[in-house]
Amino acid sequence: MNEARPQSLSSFWMPFTNNRDFKANPRLLVSAEGVYYKDVDGNSVLDGTAGLWCVPCGHRQPKIVAAVSEMVSQLDFAPTFQMGHPAAFDLAEKLMEFTNHRFGHVFYTNSGSEAVDTALKIALAYHKARGEASRTRLIGRERAYHGVGFGGISVGGIAGNRKPYGVMLPGVDHLPHTHNIEKNAYSRGEPEYGTHLADELERIVALHDASTIAAVIVEPVAGSTGVLVPPKGYLKRLRELCTKHGILLIFDEVITGFGRLTTPFATDYFDVEPDMMTTAKGLTNGTIPMGAVFSKKFIHDAFMEAPPGIELFHGYTYTGHPVACAASLATLEVFQEQKLLDRAKEIQPYWEDAVHSLKGLPHVIDIRTIGLVAGIELAPRAGAPGARAFAAFKKAFADGVLIRVTGDIIALSPPLTFERKHIDELFGKIGKVLMTLE
Ligand code: PMP
Repeated sequence: MNEARPQSLSSFWMPFTNNRDFKANPRLLVSAEGVYYKDVDGNSVLDGTAGLWCVPCGHRQPKIVAAVSEMVSQLDFAPTFQMGHPAAFDLAEKLMEFTNHRFGHVFYTNSGSEAVDTALKIALAYHKARGEASRTRLIGRERAYHGVGFGGISVGGIAGNRKPYGVMLPGVDHLPHTHNIEKNAYSRGEPEYGTHLADELERIVALHDASTIAAVIVEPVAGSTGVLVPPKGYLKRLRELCTKHGILLIFDEVITGFGRLTTPFATDYFDVEPDMMTTAKGLTNGTIPMGAVFSKKFIHDAFMEAPPGIELFHGYTYTGHPVACAASLATLEVFQEQKLLDRAKEIQPYWEDAVHSLKGLPHVIDIRTIGLVAGIELAPRAGAPGARAFAAFKKAFADGVLIRVTGDIIALSPPLTFERKHIDELFGKIGKVLMTLE
């Protein structure tokens, strides 16, 4: 018996997991280094998904490990209500630089879900603070994933995350998703068809009146529902319409942030500026839980200029946790010192060609790529949606590569430290899996 194995699998209620299936056939990771995990049996597993999209710098970067150890032995916890600590302020300044000074302020959370709910609450409180309390409607999009808070599942567009609960936030509408295999199959970068879908916002405005709408939230590239890349000009059009109607535009960059598209954020890639931006994951290279909401200066100003007593009454015990701040500061240094964005840009064409080389293999019906992300869509097995991709996930893991599947789509997002040999290994193994899949 391997001593690293847990004594029992029974009590941990696992998230987003088919618990019965997992416990019959567990996959247990015990260590990580660079772009590989090691499983409990000592097998190497190539990390094709940067954990859960959250390890852009690769695993166990010495600088981040050291920063975390140092902070935890110096300041294990400090409140940020009515007081603070230097790392929280230093990080905020560094984040302004990393986001190219597009924003004026940053609010810390502990996860992407909390960042989303925080951004939605800021939007509502902002309109109220400046005397437009009628703006309470929130607009999300079909097939969007915005985490699992009540705000996030309400603006989110995944039936499976909503249906079991019944109660949602009131006053939420959804734009249509932009995915269209018939028109846009096998796309590289932004697909051609679908820009007009942004105009659906006009329909929602006509229905309710702009004076009732607080914010629109979208993922620039929808990740969790299978890498849905925005059509050319779509995000620019959304920006124009939000500006025209006084609606705040929020980009949920929990996945697209920290180099995923080879730029710091998707806002840089698409050159479209939201009023607020949520992030998490890569913010600490996945080492310590942390999320953040970036806001334009004018949003923060509205609170500063409001009558006394109006503040943002919101925050978490762990907002700006010192250890998370230390991890994030070190992550930003690693990005700079190791020129990770340059490396990502350099490897991107090789990555893209490798992904598209799977075209023509059994079951593949679409491939889409942007930055260091890929979605490979498989034909569903008759009567068993998701079963084929799930089988691919299990086979790939047994073969030593970690891929992620959502429905019948394989979603890939390697650490930015991936080299050509890792890309060859990943697609060599995925190719074999596809050849043997029922
Ligand atoms: N928003 C987006 C776009 C995400 O992809 C995710 C997580 N995959 C979240 C929010 C939620 O983040 P967390 O799991 O850290 O709460």
